[in-house]
Amino acid sequence: DTIGANLDRTAAAHPDREALVDYTTGIRWTYREFTAEVDALALGLLAAGIGKGDRVGIWAPNCPQWTLTQYATAKIGAILVNINPAYRSHELRYVLRQAGIRLLVAAPSFKTSDYAAMIAEVEPECPELEQVVLLDSGRWRELFTAGRAADPDLLAAAGSGLSADDPINIQYTSGTTGFPKGATLSHHNILNNGYFVGELCGYTEQDRICIPVPFYHCFGMVMGNLAATSHGAAMVIPAPSFDARATLEAVAAERCTSLYGVPTMFIAELADPEFDSYDLSSLRTGIMAGSPCPVEVMKQVIERMGMHEVSICYGMTETSPVSTQTRRDDSLVQRTATVGRAGPHIEIKIADPVSGVTLPRGEAGELCTRGYSVMLGYWGEPEQTAGAIDSARWMHTGDLATMDADGYIAITGRIKDMVIRGGENIYPREIEEFLYTHPDILDAQVIGVPDAKYGEELMAWIRMRPGTTPLTPESLREYCRGKLAHYKIPRYVHLVDEFPMTVTGKIRKVEMREIGARLLD
Ligand code: ATP
Ligand code: MG
Repeated sequence: DTIGANLDRTAAAHPDREALVDYTTGIRWTYREFTAEVDALALGLLAAGIGKGDRVGIWAPNCPQWTLTQYATAKIGAILVNINPAYRSHELRYVLRQAGIRLLVAAPSFKTSDYAAMIAEVEPECPELEQVVLLDSGRWRELFTAGRAADPDLLAAAGSGLSADDPINIQYTSGTTGFPKGATLSHHNILNNGYFVGELCGYTEQDRICIPVPFYHCFGMVMGNLAATSHGAAMVIPAPSFDARATLEAVAAERCTSLYGVPTMFIAELADPEFDSYDLSSLRTGIMAGSPCPVEVMKQVIERMGMHEVSICYGMTETSPVSTQTRRDDSLVQRTATVGRAGPHIEIKIADPVSGVTLPRGEAGELCTRGYSVMLGYWGEPEQTAGAIDSARWMHTGDLATMDADGYIAITGRIKDMVIRGGENIYPREIEEFLYTHPDILDAQVIGVPDAKYGEELMAWIRMRPGTTPLTPESLREYCRGKLAHYKIPRYVHLVDEFPMTVTGKIRKVEMREIGARLLD
């Protein structure tokens, strides 16, 4: 199926169920209304000269118009290019040029970002950029007016010329380990992925999914939007960008059954002083993904938020994104110690990062995956594509993992984050898990910093709980002694209020390593 055909099927099956609710503005659309808006915009884009294969950029925080643009471009086969809302003008220029964007849909501004001014600044250097449509401007409304006046057969004709294997989306990776890379994805890649993620969550038209994660990233637009629309569930947007309080309010007010987030978002929600005043009893499931989930956080999500069926997903932008997911009947241990098993129609192997030989169960190596979910390639970067996807179509993820006898996968870290101290391979994840057991520690991250004697030494960055006594390197070492092998005990402690983060809520360890090394200079 193509994404457009799939949406039409859902709208025909559940025309009066809610498709989208925007908690901030109060906009709510049923599937019938939502599809009518999507079709008007799709026809408007056709009238504006946009068609199959043309790149359409979207630069905005989460809002209903983002979703309309997502589905309208899919209906006519235009390739949607997701642009990170946190970008500044030099990054915007890079994406506009790299993807060859012809039409850019953008919010005029958001928070401290003046998008319109940044676009005006870079426009002269982007010759392929023909049209800029600011959301809610006269031009934006004109697209709908033109679309409503157009012959609907044009849309049917555009739709019938599409194949599920066409590229439909360019998504940039989070940029956690370096410069973001543009993954080119097909209908087949992302629609199937959204569908299967929703299937394993048990979604039906009764479900209402609260999506506080960014749409610009696959977590929002695939695991959120596409999972919802392929099952007739509702998408609930709590706020334009993550806001713990608004998320709790939206779940309670909209009786959401599912809630998404990266672990840091759940940590913020659970720490909200008003947490207990929200009725979250409608929650049944949800997804936590994107970075390792501390066991303690998982327990609280299940017990205090009532998300008894919560899934952990593991994946990456390049794999549409989900490769593994825990199942509804997995035990607490399986849902905390592992990221579940391979999703339907997905293969996984754990290989020696150097020799490429498949390792025995239980041994840590690079996770490689193959199946419908593997991207078409990095946009305009054939060499990088060849470096990531081998000739047998295995995607080399750069993540370290183990697989047990039953196929459960545990992520042990990223190859790039592994610390080598005096010849010992250290996985920061293991130490972070241990530090979470300290009652005064709110959040902890461990990195390697250069060391003349051992090559690298461990530095723990720690966020203390409010009102507790700050830890010192000595008191931390005291806590670890006898419980962690001596070489895994962090030598340095750095107390912080925040970690450097990507917009997708991931901790940028590259940046921490740079800062950490400078602190020691
Ligand atoms: P970049 O590739 O630009 O450095 P990134 O890899 O963070 O950034 P994404 O594609 O958004 O960009 O994230 C995929 C990565 O996130 C995976 O490769 C993995 O390292 C990490 N990840 C995703 N889910 C999980 C999970 N459940 N547990 C641990 N790590 C996870
Ligand atoms: Mg990556």
